[in-house]
Amino acid sequence: MAKTSTQGLQDLFLDGLKDIFYAEKKILKALPKMAKSASDTAVSEAFEKHREQTEGQVERLEEVFAMLDKAPRGKTCPAIDGIIEEGSEIMEEYKGTPAIDAGLVAAAQAVEHYEMARYRTLCAWAEELDMPEAAKLLKATLDEESATDATLAQLAESDANQRALQKAA
Ligand code: FE
Ligand code: FE
Ligand code: FE
Repeated sequence: MAKTSTQGLQDLFLDGLKDIFYAEKKILKALPKMAKSASDTAVSEAFEKHREQTEGQVERLEEVFAMLDKAPRGKTCPAIDGIIEEGSEIMEEYKGTPAIDAGLVAAAQAVEHYEMARYRTLCAWAEELDMPEAAKLLKATLDEESATDATLAQLAESDANQRALQKAA
């Protein structure tokens, strides 16, 4: 039998939380490797700073799980696995070249864009489910992901892309 609409949305919301919880944990492990691979200090520092923010994002998700009386649990997210895998390829293939920072920034932006897509939806669903406190927490994280994306875009434009062009020169 079909679920009622609220039940369906609640299930989707919980599944979405598990998906992004899994993703954030993977990102926590990936960011230090990316910071180490960067040749530009500013890029490296941006990854380090976002790793610290990500710890807080995991805590926010734990709070939202608690609001649903659920234990925080992840569910494999094939999308983030793939995006991080692509980042690893960049690290291997462009190691020691002038293009490494531009490649890393692009890989990190793909991560942020995935997160932004998910958090935007989760915010909307939290509001739909009449969970304003959860929506607030999710929005705080969404804002951090957007700000990180903007910082990365700036780093790419100001410097990293120019260095990557050197290779062709
Ligand atoms: Fe995040
Ligand atoms: Fe996913
Ligand atoms: Fe992020």
